Amino acid sequence: MGDPSTPIGRLQALIRIPTVSYADRARTDTTAFEEFARQLAESFPLLHAKLDRTVVLDHGLLFHWRGASDARPVVLMAHIDVVPVEESDTWQHPAFGAEIHDGVLWGRGTLDDKGCLAGICEAVESLLGQGFTPAQDVWLSFGCDEEVMGKAAPEAVRILTERGVEPWFVLDEGGAVAYDAFPGVSKPLAVIGVTEKGITNVRLTVEGRGGHASMPTRMDTTARLARAILRLDQSPFPSSVPEPTVEMFRRLAAHLPLPLRPIARNVDRLRPALARALVAAGPESAAMTRTTTVVTTLSGSPANNVIASRATAGINVRIMVGDTVAGVVDRIRTVVNDKRVKVDIVESNEPSPLSPTDDDAFRLLEATIATTFPDAVATPYVMMGATDSRFFTAICPRVYRFAPFRMTKAQRESIHSYDERIGVDDYLEGVGFYRRLVEGLR
Ligand SMILES: [Zn+2]
Repeated sequence: MGDPSTPIGRLQALIRIPTVSYADRARTDTTAFEEFARQLAESFPLLHAKLDRTVVLDHGLLFHWRGASDARPVVLMAHIDVVPVEESDTWQHPAFGAEIHDGVLWGRGTLDDKGCLAGICEAVESLLGQGFTPAQDVWLSFGCDEEVMGKAAPEAVRILTERGVEPWFVLDEGGAVAYDAFPGVSKPLAVIGVTEKGITNVRLTVEGRGGHASMPTRMDTTARLARAILRLDQSPFPSSVPEPTVEMFRRLAAHLPLPLRPIARNVDRLRPALARALVAAGPESAAMTRTTTVVTTLSGSPANNVIASRATAGINVRIMVGDTVAGVVDRIRTVVNDKRVKVDIVESNEPSPLSPTDDDAFRLLEATIATTFPDAVATPYVMMGATDSRFFTAICPRVYRFAPFRMTKAQRESIHSYDERIGVDDYLEGVGFYRRLVEGLR
């Protein structure tokens, strides 16, 4: 069952609670979230006795740990909710079983993101046990609906703003101590997300007369929509290499195979060539270089014998740092080049601003990584996915995304998929990271 008096036993207890969030709120099992909060209080009694707790919306939690000073408060983030387990997924061990096999703890949420959540609590609890007071105020912000882009994180930001809290830095999930992250580099990379793409949805609509399918005309609603989609498909956004990627190459230079080192060192001059190489290397690396668009939904007429009077296409846009929602929509209009195709924004999110790397907060993260993971190379990077931390960019210029756990390629692929798992020793190492980070505040 797991021993509740050990860090791993306490993590196991949290993994076993199926805190699955659904976009359709009615499907969410609120008792699981209540049970999670109860279990958290039982597992971390000092944290609950000494820190002020605020419940955020339904099941989010915000803790305030008073430090010696409140001049440079820090926010440590994680989320309580997990994605559903698909029945078709073939887990080697039950998704909510939290079983340990050969030193590895298996279960949904071990990496995303209960490992971070429990790791933060474990660090705080052990420091409190030693009578430690942090040099600065520490806030713990645990969202309950990250996976469904819910409202808990913006609400936590609102509460902090109301209390006049301007964080010095914010640390959330995102990067990791990643193995096999870069071809030719054998050392693990401790990748710290310093920006994330903005996720925006745009709709194309073509309206027409419709009518009976026996008497079609040329370039009707559906054909016009198809032409617009093809034009977009054939005109990808221009590629470039953003600053964090350049910095990544500089830091990797010493660890690359010898013939590649001069290229990496001179990456600034070679940006255009590098952008072309990344695009050619495949969709994953191409996405690192530009804003991407893809048509995800399509609708036309509901009946086989009726011409659509309205045809629509939904476009999912991932906006690169440097581009803007307005600029992207303008470009889509230009590329489509057809006044009869309406372009509307359905949902808009700008990319997150770049967090600085030549900065004391980033250097604290780097130093803590160097002590905890001496074999790893720390580097900033551009995140492709979205985290709750993007809302915190409204109140803090230094938002970093890093989960302090070693992850193989297979483990990274298990996130939101099946066989999610964390090494027991890797978890404990991560707890050490959070402890040192708090101890390192000045
Ligand atoms: Zn997550």
